[in-house]
Amino acid sequence: MTAGVAAGPRYTGRFAPSPTGPLHAGSLVAALASWLDARAHQGRWLVRIEDVDTPRCVDGAGEFILRQLATCGLVPDAPPVWQSTRGALYQRALDQLIAQHHAYPCACSRKDIEEAQAALGHARERHAALPYPGTCRHGLHGRTGRSWRFNATEFQPDQALAHTDQAQVATYSIASGILDWQDRRLGTQRQDVAHAVGDFVLRRADGLWAYQLAVVVDDADQGMTHVVRGEDLADNTPRQILLQQALGVPTPCYLHTPLVCGENGEKLSKQNGARALELAVPLQALAGAAQVLGLPPLTDPNTRCISDALTLWVAAWRRNYNVAP
Ligand code: GLU
Repeated sequence: MTAGVAAGPRYTGRFAPSPTGPLHAGSLVAALASWLDARAHQGRWLVRIEDVDTPRCVDGAGEFILRQLATCGLVPDAPPVWQSTRGALYQRALDQLIAQHHAYPCACSRKDIEEAQAALGHARERHAALPYPGTCRHGLHGRTGRSWRFNATEFQPDQALAHTDQAQVATYSIASGILDWQDRRLGTQRQDVAHAVGDFVLRRADGLWAYQLAVVVDDADQGMTHVVRGEDLADNTPRQILLQQALGVPTPCYLHTPLVCGENGEKLSKQNGARALELAVPLQALAGAAQVLGLPPLTDPNTRCISDALTLWVAAWRRNYNVAP
């Protein structure tokens, strides 16, 4: 290290698929983008299999995804981590939040919540989840707690939220409760978490860990400096920034990638029947993902192997996202 120049933490990024089925054209975009960003920064790229939502997980899908990634030349720099083995870490984080009075038990069933929302005169719009009405925020009133929630309504993060690269990723206005955060592709984003989602679940009534808690604990524990993932997850980011603040861990830099839409115009996902990637010619699948990311096509007939294509795209990625070589 050069004397006097403080080195930040080494770039660490990840791809974090849920093993609910094989990779499809949409998830390959996120995988490729996160790999390219890590290589563009000469950083580490890790894979985390997010298998906490066990009813949605498919046997063998995690291993299959890892094989699909390897076929595409995307090999993690350390053995993959499986969230199902990390319950003790999530419990420790929940215990910390409870001790700090940032988490509370909730006795409400889905029906209770809908009834409380209806009583408040809130009609549910199609596909729009209404914020939790706060029924259990100040006590269970003799009922039994089923889940644990983060008290987003009363939590106040610092106004200037810390970040790993000295760049400020997010700011918070105490007066308005609005969190502004920077996405490297989408620019400034804004959410009032208390009003948009309310007090969100950390541990579900069925005992399973919620995505928000697991992802924040793991990103911090694995030293993630950068998160590159699909745009459908962008509106989860403010919740994750609040949790990072509450737990006292750094906020990574975020970049949300374009989504691939199916014929019905909706995001391609395993839920709406996305087909598993056709990997007989992996370079073709990668070229499709690269196109979605605005990267150059493989016009040079000499670019026939995956590693040449990846090298070309790393250079293009650096230009697109101003990453110094
Ligand atoms: N496991 C999540 C998914 O497959 C991604 C989580 C993340 O990248 O933060 O949608």
